[in-house]
Amino acid sequence: MTIATDLHDLTVTELASQLRQRKISAAETARHFLGRMEAHTELGAFLHVAPEVTLAQARAADGRLADGTAGVLEGVPIAHKDIFVTRDFVTTAGSKMLEGYRSPFNATVVERLAQAGAVTLGKLNCDEFAMGSANENSAYGPVRNPWDTHRTPGGSSGGSAAAVAARLTPAATGTDTGGSIRQPASFCGITGIKPTYGRASRYGMVAFASSLDQAGLLARSAEDCALLLSVMCGPDADRDATSLDIAPEDYSSQLNSSIDGLRIGVPDEFFGEGLSADVRAAVDAALKTYQALGARLVPISLPRTELSIPVYYIIAPAEASSNLSRFDGVKFGHRAKDFKDLTGMYEQTRAEGFGDEVKRRIMIGTYVLSHGYYDAYYLQAQKIRRMIADDFQQAFQQCDVIAGPVAPTVAWALGGHGNDPLADYLADIFTLPASLAGLPGMSLPVGFGDGGMPVGMQLIGNHLTESRLLNVAHRFQQATHWHTAKPTVQATGVRP
Ligand code: GLN
Repeated sequence: MTIATDLHDLTVTELASQLRQRKISAAETARHFLGRMEAHTELGAFLHVAPEVTLAQARAADGRLADGTAGVLEGVPIAHKDIFVTRDFVTTAGSKMLEGYRSPFNATVVERLAQAGAVTLGKLNCDEFAMGSANENSAYGPVRNPWDTHRTPGGSSGGSAAAVAARLTPAATGTDTGGSIRQPASFCGITGIKPTYGRASRYGMVAFASSLDQAGLLARSAEDCALLLSVMCGPDADRDATSLDIAPEDYSSQLNSSIDGLRIGVPDEFFGEGLSADVRAAVDAALKTYQALGARLVPISLPRTELSIPVYYIIAPAEASSNLSRFDGVKFGHRAKDFKDLTGMYEQTRAEGFGDEVKRRIMIGTYVLSHGYYDAYYLQAQKIRRMIADDFQQAFQQCDVIAGPVAPTVAWALGGHGNDPLADYLADIFTLPASLAGLPGMSLPVGFGDGGMPVGMQLIGNHLTESRLLNVAHRFQQATHWHTAKPTVQATGVRP
């Protein structure tokens, strides 16, 4: 059996088929990707690897491929955002607080992919507790964008996006609370999907903002996302109370459905001031392609788009401040060495374990939930959140899907926003509305902008229309080549 030198260029769908036909073995495939991972440490994409675990999983997959008990993803390598807990790999959520932490169980999403035969390559870098838009908030250093290593890959699933774009893994899991799958997918020129809130289990996902957190995928095509998502989603009521009690779907079955007559809503507010000309040009061109494919563009309005920033940056920190109270140095994670008494131990542990952005959010969250400010901030934000969701329902009376940019600009330079967290927050403007409304969203590559950096287009659907979104994205990818473009990563192995 010969090893294809371009194994890493195969998609998930192609790899799964070659493995099933036994043209390649799972062990060879795993070794190939482990080799690439080692050759590209300069990207900072992987945080935790355990090659012996990966190879053991691959050998077990080969056994099942041989005896006819193979799952749909048998032998396909995958890597997980370090926010999903894993039994066989360390989980840190990008935080010093969880340095060296080993979970006694696997997250449901990890478990489902493993049961379908996927082989875990390792854990991917991310912003600390998924808080960020540039992957610069990780306690373990930033991730670099393979299209330009001086730029951010986006965040918080920056490691996932960089690893998929650089072909260090055929696909990766991610989480999206306010855009963390869609924005890094856009910045790295790959395809990402965040399903409807509740569609994939949150069990074993280190919690950031529980009413917004949603697991999803980053891969190279809508076709691959569909294959993986069909395995990953489904009810998990016993372990996640917000998991939707709806049977899993086969997302691959509708990929080729016609999009003739599809009504694409184009929100006015997504194309105003602040959207850079290069991103606009690429998104406009993609909309024209859709027209050529038979879709109709419908002007719509999402009037409270701007408010999604203050609303999100009240609700998400509020929930984070509560979720992160579990890190007190008692049960698990980091514990300070020097302290006087119990309160001192809590204080010192949290002062040492959390980074600046996490502390900022805990303070904002505690403030907006405190007596006297709860009504003025938190309650108001919740009311506007409902209005934002209602605006979408209004819009979906006129259109089937909504399209627009993912982010106002292409990926910016690492350190480019300096110490200004607000600059990062403002860049989330186009991804936050769908998150607040719990809607599914995708990002697909539609061209290149300034500095030769990828531009993504966002597709937003109504609740539980993942199948339609993937179909709409797939038809575009059948007609264009943007998703096949790849960066030329130099194998220096040294972080610049
Ligand atoms: N950028 C947003 C934040 O910092 C979204 C992060 C996410 O989706 N996890 O909160």
